[in-house]
Amino acid sequence: MGRIFSGVQPSGNLTLGNYLGAIRNWVKLQNDHECIFCVVDMHAITVWQDPEALRRATREVAAGMLASGVDPKKNIIFNQSAVSGHAELGWILNCVSRLGWLNRMTQFKEKAGKHKENASVGLYVYPNLMAADILLYKGTHVPVGDDQKQHLELARDIAQKFNNDFGREVFPLPEPMIFGSATRVMSLRDGTKKMSKSDPSEYSRISMTDDADMIAKKVRKAKTDPHPVPDSVEACGDRPEAKNLMNIFAALSDQELKEVCAEYGGQSFADFKRALTDLAVSKLAPISEEMQRYMDDPAQVDAILKDGAERANAIAAPVLKEVKEVVGFLQP
Ligand code: ATP
Ligand code: MG
Repeated sequence: MGRIFSGVQPSGNLTLGNYLGAIRNWVKLQNDHECIFCVVDMHAITVWQDPEALRRATREVAAGMLASGVDPKKNIIFNQSAVSGHAELGWILNCVSRLGWLNRMTQFKEKAGKHKENASVGLYVYPNLMAADILLYKGTHVPVGDDQKQHLELARDIAQKFNNDFGREVFPLPEPMIFGSATRVMSLRDGTKKMSKSDPSEYSRISMTDDADMIAKKVRKAKTDPHPVPDSVEACGDRPEAKNLMNIFAALSDQELKEVCAEYGGQSFADFKRALTDLAVSKLAPISEEMQRYMDDPAQVDAILKDGAERANAIAAPVLKEVKEVVGFLQP
């Protein structure tokens, strides 16, 4: 396999969705692959970020990766804006990507909401920058949650069009890696919406920094229906909120959904929620303690990001040079 690239936005506190859908999988990949993991701060500013909060969230996302077991020696961990090639290639790819392609992106429609004309242009071209993030390193594989599948398909289309337009096989076509048992963790308030760190409702998500009391409160308040816990996968069918909680339980305990259904089926949700709280606390507490340790030593996090940015730039610079040459830019 070639080179792995993935990222997380410092747009809020890391959620259980980010952990189960992305970061936990990175830890599994790091021993056998060359991996680049990025705190994508330039993506975060596509919606308003308070500058001080952005600085803190950037360190916190890095701390979350490190505390989850992503090793900064085996991998490259850095923040996107520290390598200027992302912006440079992003612009070039803005000129390759097509309006019609971007118009099909469902994430823009969801994030822009009703008043699209008030959304930033950055939010609209976000997928082009995401393609640049990956292609700047000639990334071949991208471990992400299910929600990023459409953006990955666009990145492939952009890479292919670039190669065709210039008649050179500059970029590999990156492949999504969507795996694990929780590729789409849903909101605790609405089983049809994905859990997101930028959701205005704090009670829609479990954050990796939540303490035991907060986790207990959020799980207790999580929406369910009046029926007992479903006893089979089929019985979860039209009960998205119930299925989501059971999926989270399965992912955290490394079990199949059907095993969780067999064990808890028929019980009340009040009992099941207590078991889920205990499990979530036991898995997240060691990670959040370790995150706190990194947050107490921001200089250490900054040094890791700086080292990562230098190593990332060493890979990116010759790729960018090649791209500029192919496009026809003079490089004095
Ligand atoms: P935002 O709301 O700002 O978009 P987010 O929670 O969606 O934040 P991102 O930084 O956009 O997080 O995504 C980081 C990674 O986490 C991506 O690989 C994404 O697919 C994955 N991810 C995000 N939310 C979920 C989820 N609910 N379930 C599984 N994976 C998720
Ligand atoms: Mg997102």
